[in-house]
Amino acid sequence: MLRTPLLVAARSTACRTLVERAPVTRGLVARFVAGSTQEQALPAVEKLAEDRLITLDHLGEDTTELAQAEATVTAYSRLLCELGRRGLAGRAEVSVKLSAVGQFLPADGEKVALDNARRICEEAAAVGTTVTLDMEDHTTTDSTLGILRDLRVDFPWVGAVLQAYLHRTEADCRDLRSAGSRVRLCKGAYDEPASVAYRDKREVDRAYVRCLKILMAGDGYPMIASHDPRLIAIAGKLAEDTGRAPDTFEYQMLYGIREAEQVRLAAEGNRMRVYVPYGDEWYGYFMRRLAERPANVAFFARSLVSR
Ligand code: FAD
Repeated sequence: MLRTPLLVAARSTACRTLVERAPVTRGLVARFVAGSTQEQALPAVEKLAEDRLITLDHLGEDTTELAQAEATVTAYSRLLCELGRRGLAGRAEVSVKLSAVGQFLPADGEKVALDNARRICEEAAAVGTTVTLDMEDHTTTDSTLGILRDLRVDFPWVGAVLQAYLHRTEADCRDLRSAGSRVRLCKGAYDEPASVAYRDKREVDRAYVRCLKILMAGDGYPMIASHDPRLIAIAGKLAEDTGRAPDTFEYQMLYGIREAEQVRLAAEGNRMRVYVPYGDEWYGYFMRRLAERPANVAFFARSLVSR
């Protein structure tokens, strides 16, 4: 019941001010966000890299100014350089939201986002790692997949997220299941209308399994981004049934969520990647994490009241 209002609040400037100013917020944000700066996040990354793989997200989205998009590219360049310098590039890649690098800018936003994403890919290639494009709300899906296609001409290892809750996604999985294609399959975190997405949890879960079957039976590299124990078990079974070796797919979870399960999957010889966000622009990301789990909201509300 709370999911929709929280996801609407995730895009409200008034709510943003309220939540950012609440004194208790910082502590809660720290559960999901590895630090406000690269320097703060990297020790957590080095620790995780002992047994897991990582994808780093420099937080930011819905950029409306060219200068801000440019600053995001600079932040990714600095990060990639540092991953190379610290010898982490073999275990850590980056995730990029195209709206953070200009996709929503008026007039030529898509071109700006493509050029900026290309620059990030060049830096990633230089240090020997990969880039995955996050997926935002459904109005951006065609544009993001178009940019993915363009980037993959020069950087065939660029991956993208597909969201199982969208009606279109089974078809997108079929398009993206060929050799070399890296697809991160998640349920989907935005408030989408019933005209384009399943809204019932059981329907989303069923759609996830259908998409997973397509990807696991294909020749690409599926990235199973879910904390759902049932889906993780189904993925393991599909890997057995399709004869996939452990290095031909991976599990992925978000920083701060189901840590023990991350450790277990890694210890069993699976490739397990953690999505690690950092930076000051945590508001939208944090609100989506609250929306995913009522217990997080209850905890947040209790902390506000008990002060
Ligand atoms: P759920 O049924 O939501 O959760 C299963 C269990 O996981 C819960 O019972 C709980 O124990 C635990 N859990 C899940 N969420 C939380 C939480 N917030 N706090 C505490 N416990 C929790 N979505 C997009 O729309 N676009 C993206 O680009 C995108 N990238 C992602 C990348 C990765 C690596 C991951 C793991 C998720 C990403 N998501 C993205 C989010 C995703 O769409 C879901 O909203 C999110 O993962 C919750 O779905 P679930 O599959 O974990 O299942």
